[in-house]
Amino acid sequence: MPTILLTGTNRGLGLELTRQYAEDGWMVQACCRNPGTADELNHLQSQYPDNITVHALDVTDANQRNKLAKQLADTPIDILFNNAGIYGDGQHQQFGSSFAYVWQKVFETDVIAPMQMMETFKPQVAMSELKLMANMSSKMGSMTDNGSGGSYVYRSCKAALNAVCVSAAKDLAAEDIQVAILHPGWVRTDMGGPNGELSVQESAAALRNTLANFTPADSGRFIDIDGSTIPW
Ligand code: NAP
Repeated sequence: MPTILLTGTNRGLGLELTRQYAEDGWMVQACCRNPGTADELNHLQSQYPDNITVHALDVTDANQRNKLAKQLADTPIDILFNNAGIYGDGQHQQFGSSFAYVWQKVFETDVIAPMQMMETFKPQVAMSELKLMANMSSKMGSMTDNGSGGSYVYRSCKAALNAVCVSAAKDLAAEDIQVAILHPGWVRTDMGGPNGELSVQESAAALRNTLANFTPADSGRFIDIDGSTIPW
Protein backbone atom coordinates (compact mmCIF):
# COMPACT_ATOMS: atom_id res chain seq x y z
CA MET A 1 0.00 0.00 0.00
CA PRO A 2 1.26 3.51 -0.76
CA THR A 3 2.19 5.91 2.01
CA ILE A 4 1.31 9.58 2.39
CA LEU A 5 2.76 11.97 4.94
CA LEU A 6 0.34 14.81 5.65
CA THR A 7 0.92 17.94 7.74
CA GLY A 8 -1.74 19.89 9.62
CA THR A 9 -4.09 16.93 10.14
CA ASN A 10 -5.70 18.19 13.35
CA ARG A 11 -8.63 19.78 11.49
CA GLY A 12 -9.87 21.12 8.16
CA LEU A 13 -8.53 19.72 4.89
CA GLY A 14 -5.68 17.81 6.54
CA LEU A 15 -8.08 15.84 8.73
CA GLU A 16 -10.38 15.02 5.81
CA LEU A 17 -7.49 14.01 3.54
CA THR A 18 -6.31 11.71 6.34
CA ARG A 19 -9.79 10.16 6.53
CA GLN A 20 -10.14 9.63 2.79
CA TYR A 21 -6.65 8.22 2.22
CA ALA A 22 -7.03 5.86 5.19
CA GLU A 23 -10.48 4.76 3.99
CA ASP A 24 -8.87 4.01 0.64
CA GLY A 25 -6.30 1.73 2.31
CA TRP A 26 -3.28 4.06 2.22
CA MET A 27 -0.78 4.21 5.07
CA VAL A 28 -1.09 7.73 6.46
CA GLN A 29 1.65 9.38 8.49
CA ALA A 30 -0.60 12.04 10.00
CA CYS A 31 1.28 14.98 11.50
CA CYS A 32 -0.20 17.58 13.80
CA ARG A 33 1.12 20.06 16.32
CA ASN A 34 -0.51 18.61 19.43
CA PRO A 35 -1.53 14.93 19.24
CA GLY A 36 -2.61 15.07 22.89
CA THR A 37 -5.51 17.38 22.07
CA ALA A 38 -6.23 16.21 18.50
CA ASP A 39 -9.47 14.48 19.48
CA GLU A 40 -10.99 14.01 16.01
CA LEU A 41 -7.70 12.79 14.57
CA ASN A 42 -7.19 10.37 17.46
CA HIS A 43 -10.73 9.06 17.02
CA LEU A 44 -10.05 8.55 13.31
CA GLN A 45 -6.82 6.76 14.18
CA SER A 46 -8.76 4.39 16.43
CA GLN A 47 -11.07 3.60 13.49
CA TYR A 48 -8.11 2.87 11.17
CA PRO A 49 -5.38 1.68 13.56
CA ASP A 50 -3.51 -0.19 10.81
CA ASN A 51 -3.50 2.75 8.41
CA ILE A 52 -2.98 5.90 10.48
CA THR A 53 0.05 6.77 12.57
CA VAL A 54 -0.10 10.10 14.38
CA HIS A 55 3.06 12.16 14.84
CA ALA A 56 3.75 15.43 16.66
CA LEU A 57 5.04 17.96 14.14
CA ASP A 58 5.10 21.71 14.16
CA VAL A 59 6.30 22.22 10.60
CA THR A 60 8.37 25.26 11.61
CA ASP A 61 10.36 23.24 14.17
CA ALA A 62 13.58 21.88 12.63
CA ASN A 63 14.23 19.52 15.57
CA GLN A 64 10.81 17.92 15.19
CA ARG A 65 11.19 17.63 11.43
CA ASN A 66 14.58 15.96 11.75
CA LYS A 67 13.41 13.64 14.54
CA LEU A 68 10.49 12.46 12.43
CA ALA A 69 12.70 12.01 9.37
CA LYS A 70 14.99 9.77 11.43
CA GLN A 71 12.04 7.80 12.71
CA LEU A 72 10.81 7.30 9.13
CA ALA A 73 14.28 6.82 7.63
CA ASP A 74 13.35 3.46 6.08
CA THR A 75 9.77 4.35 5.12
CA PRO A 76 9.20 5.19 1.45
CA ILE A 77 6.83 8.19 1.23
CA ASP A 78 4.83 8.17 -2.01
CA ILE A 79 3.25 11.56 -1.36
CA LEU A 80 4.67 14.21 0.94
CA PHE A 81 1.72 16.57 1.35
CA ASN A 82 2.49 20.02 2.76
CA ASN A 83 -1.02 20.99 3.81
CA ALA A 84 -0.43 22.97 7.04
CA GLY A 85 -0.80 26.69 6.57
CA ILE A 86 -1.94 29.90 8.21
CA TYR A 87 -3.58 33.05 6.91
CA GLY A 88 -2.07 35.39 9.47
CA ASP A 89 -3.75 37.96 11.64
CA GLY A 90 -6.58 39.55 9.65
CA GLN A 91 -5.91 42.94 11.24
CA HIS A 92 -2.57 43.18 9.48
CA GLN A 93 -3.56 42.22 5.93
CA GLN A 94 -4.66 45.64 4.63
CA PHE A 95 -2.71 48.59 3.21
CA GLY A 96 -1.60 50.78 6.12
CA SER A 97 -1.59 48.01 8.71
CA SER A 98 1.34 45.77 7.77
CA PHE A 99 3.30 44.37 10.69
CA ALA A 100 6.61 42.60 10.12
CA TYR A 101 6.19 39.94 12.81
CA VAL A 102 2.86 38.74 11.38
CA TRP A 103 4.37 38.58 7.89
CA GLN A 104 7.45 36.71 9.14
CA LYS A 105 5.30 34.14 10.96
CA VAL A 106 3.22 33.39 7.85
CA PHE A 107 6.33 33.27 5.65
CA GLU A 108 7.95 30.84 8.07
CA THR A 109 4.88 28.57 8.09
CA ASP A 110 3.64 28.80 4.50
CA VAL A 111 6.93 29.13 2.58
CA ILE A 112 10.04 28.12 4.53
CA ALA A 113 8.46 25.13 6.28
CA PRO A 114 7.13 23.46 3.09
CA MET A 115 10.54 24.00 1.47
CA GLN A 116 12.34 22.46 4.42
CA MET A 117 9.86 19.59 4.60
CA MET A 118 10.67 18.82 0.94
CA GLU A 119 14.39 19.02 1.69
CA THR A 120 14.16 16.90 4.84
CA PHE A 121 11.95 14.13 3.44
CA LYS A 122 13.43 13.97 -0.07
CA PRO A 123 15.22 10.66 0.61
CA GLN A 124 11.99 8.94 1.68
CA VAL A 125 10.12 10.35 -1.33
CA ALA A 126 12.95 9.32 -3.66
CA MET A 127 12.77 5.70 -2.45
CA SER A 128 8.99 5.51 -3.07
CA GLU A 129 7.05 4.48 -6.15
CA LEU A 130 5.05 7.66 -6.82
CA LYS A 131 7.71 10.21 -5.82
CA LEU A 132 5.33 13.11 -5.37
CA MET A 133 5.57 16.27 -3.26
CA ALA A 134 2.23 18.10 -2.99
CA ASN A 135 1.95 21.64 -1.69
CA MET A 136 -1.24 23.40 -0.69
CA SER A 137 -1.11 26.80 -2.29
CA SER A 138 -4.03 29.16 -2.90
CA LYS A 139 -5.49 31.03 -5.83
CA MET A 140 -4.94 34.07 -3.63
CA GLY A 141 -1.27 33.70 -4.55
CA SER A 142 -2.11 34.37 -8.21
CA MET A 143 -1.28 37.88 -9.45
CA THR A 144 -3.62 37.46 -12.42
CA ASP A 145 -6.51 36.39 -10.22
CA ASN A 146 -6.08 39.26 -7.76
CA GLY A 147 -9.19 41.27 -8.45
CA SER A 148 -9.81 42.66 -5.00
CA GLY A 149 -6.43 43.64 -3.50
CA GLY A 150 -5.77 43.31 0.22
CA SER A 151 -4.58 40.14 2.01
CA TYR A 152 -0.99 41.31 1.49
CA VAL A 153 0.55 38.77 3.83
CA TYR A 154 -1.30 35.65 2.72
CA ARG A 155 -1.23 36.50 -0.99
CA SER A 156 2.51 37.22 -1.03
CA CYS A 157 3.37 34.11 0.98
CA LYS A 158 1.38 31.76 -1.27
CA ALA A 159 2.96 33.45 -4.32
CA ALA A 160 6.37 32.81 -2.75
CA LEU A 161 5.42 29.17 -2.11
CA ASN A 162 4.57 28.87 -5.81
CA ALA A 163 8.01 30.21 -6.73
CA VAL A 164 9.64 27.69 -4.38
CA CYS A 165 7.63 24.84 -5.91
CA VAL A 166 8.48 25.78 -9.49
CA SER A 167 12.19 25.70 -8.66
CA ALA A 168 11.82 22.41 -6.77
CA ALA A 169 9.92 20.89 -9.71
CA LYS A 170 12.82 21.77 -12.00
CA ASP A 171 15.58 20.77 -9.58
CA LEU A 172 14.05 17.40 -8.66
CA ALA A 173 12.92 16.35 -12.14
CA ALA A 174 16.22 14.58 -12.78
CA GLU A 175 15.42 12.30 -9.83
CA ASP A 176 11.88 11.70 -11.12
CA ILE A 177 10.39 13.56 -8.17
CA GLN A 178 7.33 15.63 -9.09
CA VAL A 179 6.01 18.71 -7.33
CA ALA A 180 2.30 19.57 -7.22
CA ILE A 181 1.04 23.11 -6.57
CA LEU A 182 -2.59 22.81 -5.55
CA HIS A 183 -5.50 25.18 -4.97
CA PRO A 184 -8.14 23.36 -2.90
CA GLY A 185 -11.04 25.65 -3.87
CA TRP A 186 -12.76 27.92 -1.36
CA VAL A 187 -13.49 25.42 1.37
CA ARG A 188 -15.63 25.56 4.51
CA THR A 189 -12.95 25.20 7.18
CA ASP A 190 -11.78 27.41 10.03
CA MET A 191 -9.66 29.27 7.48
CA GLY A 192 -12.17 29.34 4.62
CA GLY A 193 -15.11 30.23 6.87
CA PRO A 194 -18.74 29.09 6.63
CA ASN A 195 -19.45 30.64 3.21
CA GLY A 196 -16.90 28.57 1.30
CA GLU A 197 -18.10 26.96 -1.92
CA LEU A 198 -16.92 23.43 -1.12
CA SER A 199 -17.17 21.01 1.79
CA VAL A 200 -13.92 19.43 3.00
CA GLN A 201 -15.20 16.13 1.61
CA GLU A 202 -15.66 17.58 -1.90
CA SER A 203 -12.33 19.39 -1.89
CA ALA A 204 -10.32 16.44 -0.54
CA ALA A 205 -11.90 14.07 -3.08
CA ALA A 206 -11.02 16.42 -5.95
CA LEU A 207 -7.46 16.93 -4.67
CA ARG A 208 -6.99 13.16 -4.44
CA ASN A 209 -8.27 12.79 -7.97
CA THR A 210 -5.75 15.36 -9.22
CA LEU A 211 -2.91 13.55 -7.48
CA ALA A 212 -4.09 10.13 -8.67
CA ASN A 213 -3.92 11.35 -12.29
CA PHE A 214 -0.70 13.35 -11.89
CA THR A 215 1.81 13.15 -14.73
CA PRO A 216 5.35 14.56 -15.04
CA ALA A 217 3.90 17.32 -17.25
CA ASP A 218 1.90 18.54 -14.22
CA SER A 219 5.00 19.08 -12.08
CA GLY A 220 5.37 22.79 -11.29
CA ARG A 221 1.89 23.57 -12.68
CA PHE A 222 -0.48 25.69 -10.55
CA ILE A 223 -3.53 23.43 -10.47
CA ASP A 224 -7.09 24.52 -9.70
CA ILE A 225 -9.53 22.22 -7.95
CA ASP A 226 -11.09 21.25 -11.31
CA GLY A 227 -7.69 20.32 -12.74
CA SER A 228 -7.31 23.44 -14.90
CA THR A 229 -4.21 25.67 -14.80
CA ILE A 230 -4.27 28.84 -12.70
CA PRO A 231 -2.26 31.67 -14.25
CA TRP A 232 0.54 33.00 -12.04
P1 NAP B 1 -7.44 25.26 8.82
O1 NAP B 1 -8.76 24.62 9.00
O2 NAP B 1 -7.17 26.58 9.43
O3 NAP B 1 -6.32 24.21 9.26
C1 NAP B 1 -4.97 24.56 9.19
C2 NAP B 1 -4.16 23.39 9.69
O4 NAP B 1 -2.78 23.77 9.60
C3 NAP B 1 -4.44 23.07 11.15
O5 NAP B 1 -4.45 21.67 11.33
C4 NAP B 1 -3.27 23.69 11.87
O6 NAP B 1 -2.90 23.07 13.07
C5 NAP B 1 -2.18 23.46 10.84
N1 NAP B 1 -1.01 24.29 11.12
C6 NAP B 1 -0.89 25.65 11.14
N2 NAP B 1 0.35 26.02 11.48
C7 NAP B 1 1.05 24.87 11.68
C8 NAP B 1 2.37 24.57 12.05
N3 NAP B 1 3.27 25.53 12.32
N4 NAP B 1 2.74 23.27 12.15
C9 NAP B 1 1.87 22.27 11.89
N5 NAP B 1 0.58 22.49 11.56
C10 NAP B 1 0.18 23.77 11.45
O7 NAP B 1 -7.14 25.46 7.26
P2 NAP B 1 -7.57 24.65 5.96
O8 NAP B 1 -8.63 25.42 5.30
O9 NAP B 1 -7.75 23.21 6.27
O10 NAP B 1 -6.24 24.89 5.09
C11 NAP B 1 -5.34 23.88 4.76
C12 NAP B 1 -4.42 24.44 3.67
O11 NAP B 1 -5.22 24.83 2.53
C13 NAP B 1 -3.65 25.71 4.07
O12 NAP B 1 -2.34 25.63 3.54
C14 NAP B 1 -4.43 26.83 3.41
O13 NAP B 1 -3.62 27.97 3.16
C15 NAP B 1 -4.91 26.15 2.16
N6 NAP B 1 -6.08 26.78 1.53
C16 NAP B 1 -7.30 26.75 2.13
C17 NAP B 1 -8.40 27.34 1.51
C18 NAP B 1 -9.78 27.32 2.11
O14 NAP B 1 -10.71 27.87 1.49
N7 NAP B 1 -9.99 26.71 3.26
C19 NAP B 1 -8.25 27.94 0.25
C20 NAP B 1 -6.98 27.97 -0.33
C21 NAP B 1 -5.91 27.37 0.30
P3 NAP B 1 -3.62 23.42 14.50
O15 NAP B 1 -4.94 22.74 14.45
O16 NAP B 1 -2.66 22.90 15.50
O17 NAP B 1 -3.76 24.92 14.54
